[in-house]
Amino acid sequence: GSNYEVTHYVGTMRDITDRIVAEKAIQKLNADLDAPLCAIPDLLFELDQDGKYLNIWAHDPELLAAQKESLLGHSVSEMLPPEAAAIVMSALQEAAAQGYSHGQVIRLDLPQGEIWFELSTSLKALQGDFDKHFIMLSRDITVRKQAENALRESEARLATAQRIAHIGNWELDLVNNNLLWSEEIYRIFEIDPNEFAASSEVFLAAIHPDDREAVNRAYLGSLANRSPYVIEHRLLFPDGRIKHVHESCENVFDQNGKALRSIGTVQDITARKRAEEAIRHLAFYDSLTKLPNRRMLLFSFEKALTASARHNSFGAVLFIDLDRFKLLNDTLGHDYGDLLLIEVAVRAKACVREVDTVARLGGDEFVVLMENISDDQNEASLKAGLVAEKIRESLARPYDLNGHEHHSSPSIGATLFRGNEVAVDELIHQADMAMYQAKDSGRNAVRFFDPVMQDNVATRAALVGDLSSAIAHQQLHLHYQLQVDNDNHPVGAEALLRWIHPQRGIVMPEHFLPIAEESTLALDVGDWVLEAACRQLALWSENEKMCNLALTVNVSAKQFATPDFVSNVAATLQAHQINPARLKLELTEGMVLDNLHSAVGKMHDLKALGILLSMGDFGIRYSSLSNLKLLPLDQLKLGRSFVRDVASDGTVALLVQSIIDMSSRCRIAVIAEGVEDEAQLALLKDHDCVTYQGFLFGKALSSENFEQLLS
Ligand code: C2E
Repeated sequence: GSNYEVTHYVGTMRDITDRIVAEKAIQKLNADLDAPLCAIPDLLFELDQDGKYLNIWAHDPELLAAQKESLLGHSVSEMLPPEAAAIVMSALQEAAAQGYSHGQVIRLDLPQGEIWFELSTSLKALQGDFDKHFIMLSRDITVRKQAENALRESEARLATAQRIAHIGNWELDLVNNNLLWSEEIYRIFEIDPNEFAASSEVFLAAIHPDDREAVNRAYLGSLANRSPYVIEHRLLFPDGRIKHVHESCENVFDQNGKALRSIGTVQDITARKRAEEAIRHLAFYDSLTKLPNRRMLLFSFEKALTASARHNSFGAVLFIDLDRFKLLNDTLGHDYGDLLLIEVAVRAKACVREVDTVARLGGDEFVVLMENISDDQNEASLKAGLVAEKIRESLARPYDLNGHEHHSSPSIGATLFRGNEVAVDELIHQADMAMYQAKDSGRNAVRFFDPVMQDNVATRAALVGDLSSAIAHQQLHLHYQLQVDNDNHPVGAEALLRWIHPQRGIVMPEHFLPIAEESTLALDVGDWVLEAACRQLALWSENEKMCNLALTVNVSAKQFATPDFVSNVAATLQAHQINPARLKLELTEGMVLDNLHSAVGKMHDLKALGILLSMGDFGIRYSSLSNLKLLPLDQLKLGRSFVRDVASDGTVALLVQSIIDMSSRCRIAVIAEGVEDEAQLALLKDHDCVTYQGFLFGKALSSENFEQLLS
């Protein structure tokens, strides 16, 4: 302020005496000012517009760029390093223009070290044309500067560390609802900071939809419980990529428990996850074939045994060894051996269900683990044998190894398991032993560990072989079982299939039809039955005693499911010129209910041909009563189990009554099958049943015997 003006009041003095007096006064004033000004911890300079030091007050002369005496009369450009001098000069210029200037920082290398000063400059108010003078305050801000630098450095270090560790941090001010993200968060979330400001919505949107709820719950839970949380979740990017992140968060609360702030970190752990996955894969999978290895197999096997005990169902183990694999390795080299193993893995997997395990034990040994095959041991061994056979066939087909045609075959050993009484090792050992039996038998074969099972499978394999030629060799025959009405008058017959095997004698349908159903053989057999039945009807139409009988023909599920079934029936009727009303097709509940919509359509088409429809084994699935009115049926067959118990079990009798009532309301006739004695017949008659079939009236007979019975 105004105290300094005195110093430069000189210009207006005219009188020398006055001048001397005045100068004296000024000197005194200056001397008086020196003391308080020197007490200010900052440096004070008076400078002219060229930067010349006019006056200096320094509390701590050590902070001056040079001795006070050497500075006075010289300019900053002479006394300060060029950079600092330039900053001082620009401060003077700014102050000259605006009257005041603040905030410039200069750095001087003084003997005690690097010192930082912050400058504040003001233009001295002058009168007349005097040069402009300035007062500059120079404050030592070294400590602050060092702290700032240290902070900046540590922030830079943190950012680098975050970048390296892929950790970002965020802070949510819950009072002002202000969210801050570190650079790395933007990078992890792949968000352009210029495009999107930090927001919870953007954050949530980046999270995989399946994980969002869990993340949200974790956060809200941590606020409610005042506890930190950690969670691993996924981010989903628009191009379908996924990143795995590890998130942790802590909250800050005031004394009243009000949440003030949430602070969290997000770490990109995708690389770690991938590595873990790779390690897991290395540990549990075979690197060549990508199949589970021995360790994984044992692990799955233990679980399978426990599950088998729980479900009480049979599973199977197949032990596969490639025949003469060593020869391939020795002649064509290991690369070819590898190619073969890879192809074997692919083929074996294609032969089993998704749920089954195909593992590579090592070398040319593979193991197939099949779970939950059947509750029935026979059926389980048949199915396991079938799969083993399928694998054997597939692995025995020629291989193309890099343009090289190679022939190989497997020897397969099989064993069944149920529950966990037999240990995993023992089961694998059993299958291994069976595999050696397969090798002993001449390779390229399947053998069961259990001789009974082996028999079973062998018989069946033989049957399948024989059945395929049974039609050509005219070994299939239809037998006829009488159906009568309430007055014991013949009204029809059911055609029942028999296979007269040259060695085995008569084979009953239950022993070969299920085998046929597993292949297209069922269709050939079905066609043959329909054809034979129509031929018989044509013959009967010329016989007075037989011409009014309706012939019931069983239809298999596979047959009914073929798209051309209806046209097939129509063509057969046409070929034999028979009255369609004499042909009755017997369907089962299962084939209709499993695909109700298309089945009903087909049934209407069949009815349109003029033939009759009967539903066999009715009542096994009780739900069907309600579907009854949907079905264009002429007849319902009351199953054997109902008939057997109708006389002895009141509940069954009630059920039979309600089935008969329901049917008559729908105008569907009921036939009871399996009637074996008079008591059953009497009760059925009591319940208004109208037609009957069973041993009481006659067994299924050859056409000659049947005709004889009727005459
Ligand atoms: P299904 O249609 O229920 O045939 C009735 C079966 O019960 C016949 O057995 C018959 O011999 C037997 N049966 C008849 N009366 C009595 C009786 O009073 N008591 C007892 N215990 N049994 C009696 P079969 O001939 O062994 O046929 C069994 C099943 O094989 C048939 O059951 C049918 O589902 C199927 N089947 C038979 N022939 C054919 C055919 O040509 N095609 C198709 N797809 N399946 C057929």
